[in-house]
Amino acid sequence: MRGSRILQLGKVGHVLPLDALALAIKAQRDEARLKAVIDFAYAAGCRQQWILNYFGERNSQPCGRCDGCRGRKQVANRTVKADEWTLVKMALSGVARMSTRRSTDVWTPRFGKRKIIQCLLGSQAAPILDAGLDALSTYGILKSEGSAYVDALFECFEQAGLVQVVMEGEYPLLELTELGSRVMRGAEKPTLALPERTAGAIASASSRQVKKGEVPAGIADQALYQKLAAKRSELAAASGKPAYTVFPNFVLVELANRKPTSEREAISIRGIGPAKLKTVLPDFLEVIAEHS
Ligand SMILES: [Zn+2]
Repeated sequence: MRGSRILQLGKVGHVLPLDALALAIKAQRDEARLKAVIDFAYAAGCRQQWILNYFGERNSQPCGRCDGCRGRKQVANRTVKADEWTLVKMALSGVARMSTRRSTDVWTPRFGKRKIIQCLLGSQAAPILDAGLDALSTYGILKSEGSAYVDALFECFEQAGLVQVVMEGEYPLLELTELGSRVMRGAEKPTLALPERTAGAIASASSRQVKKGEVPAGIADQALYQKLAAKRSELAAASGKPAYTVFPNFVLVELANRKPTSEREAISIRGIGPAKLKTVLPDFLEVIAEHS
């Protein structure tokens, strides 16, 4: 009622005619404004960019002068390499996968930054597994990059306005912005202040990068690998998702080499979580059983 105008002067308090609906709308509006102020306080990126974004301007650049801009480590924006675009898109799809789509590029957040990152890293932490998040197609896809890199990647996203922290009640959630969504789709390719990938991550990723139909090195039973790869293609086609979301190559290599005969044996393979154990693994165990 604070800030409400009294329309009929000369009446005592308890007989004032109050419009309950109007008051409810006003309360809602006040709450939305307060939420915006809290979001602003939590925002890690450029203040000016945040304000412009709030008023509907989606393509602004960081101002370079505010506390958000000056406080961060100065990493210059640079052209993003092809392998890095792949990582950027994977990470942003990780955010999208844990959000609800409202329209083409409008996403409602459902999780906080920590959970999204843990999920991309394939964390076995109880809150992740209990919520069944290991069943997501984006679970573990950035595992080989390491947590320091993925943390830095998300900091870069936040600074560039690809994601932003918004408050849902008392919980800070990570929202994929319209700009972030367009970058994820490849509709926009801004320069970014990306962290450098570690040499180890690049090496381990490229050693796993196998051209379609080729068999990676280090497999004794090539024929079994081919059968497992064929099963993966079949499952991927059926679900309409990319092959790596069924199992990445390194899991197929492990399956071909270790030839597990049961779920119990398979669970020790890195990259096979409790969810995959129940969804896709049985098909692969069948292939292995038939092969031997
Ligand atoms: Zn700024």
